[in-house]
Amino acid sequence: MAKTYSIAIDGPAGAGKSTMAKRLAKELGYYYVDTGAIYRTVAYFMDLLGVSPKDADGVERYIDELNIEIQYDEDGKQHMLMNGLDVTDEIRTQDISQKASLVSAHPVVREVLLDMQRDVAKAHNVIMDGRDIGTVVLPKADVKIFLTASSQVRAKRRYDELIAKGQTANLEQVRKEIEQRDYQDTHREIAPLKMARDSVKLDTSDLDIDGVIAEMKRIIKEKIPV
Ligand code: C5P
Repeated sequence: MAKTYSIAIDGPAGAGKSTMAKRLAKELGYYYVDTGAIYRTVAYFMDLLGVSPKDADGVERYIDELNIEIQYDEDGKQHMLMNGLDVTDEIRTQDISQKASLVSAHPVVREVLLDMQRDVAKAHNVIMDGRDIGTVVLPKADVKIFLTASSQVRAKRRYDELIAKGQTANLEQVRKEIEQRDYQDTHREIAPLKMARDSVKLDTSDLDIDGVIAEMKRIIKEKIPV
């Protein structure tokens, strides 16, 4: 099999990972893999069954009933299929964000999803974003970038996104939820959110999208032929 390149982008919620990764993937002709969407699909499935995301036994009992597929449409947009049903839009709520963070802490969930993520990277050039891509999923990724920003800035970005989608939101509440998610994601025992030792840290608090993209391209070009 020909060599494929992988770019790992990790960082907390709202740092700009998916916006940047999507744009770069398009420019470079890479697959963009949003791994958070996979955890969100698990959370959504458990929610429909009435299983609490904190209930380790319940999650373990039902996880085998879930078949997740990732598909891409002609625009390169990632779609999540839950037992054949497209749930791409349904998984994008604040409620599911919190539940995904809780459900993702269970070892059985992380184990089931690990091969799925690695298989995509084996077959394609990928830009994959998440929390543990550079540390656990693709420890040998060609490029690792850790995107971050202050919780205030991240909350404002998430708030603007929700408002743009026509959802109601409260900035202070969004900030609290983001901080709670940061706490959960960095303190779980398995694959916590942390920067890989060989990752390049990029604080996006004071940069606009073009500024972040330019900086990321510079980092990428140092490591792989693009
Ligand atoms: O990135 P996104 O906000 O969609 O992720 C939702 C949740 O899924 C995160 O808060 C995190 O708990 C979990 N997640 C994870 N590992 C990843 C990606 C997401 O644990 N690689």
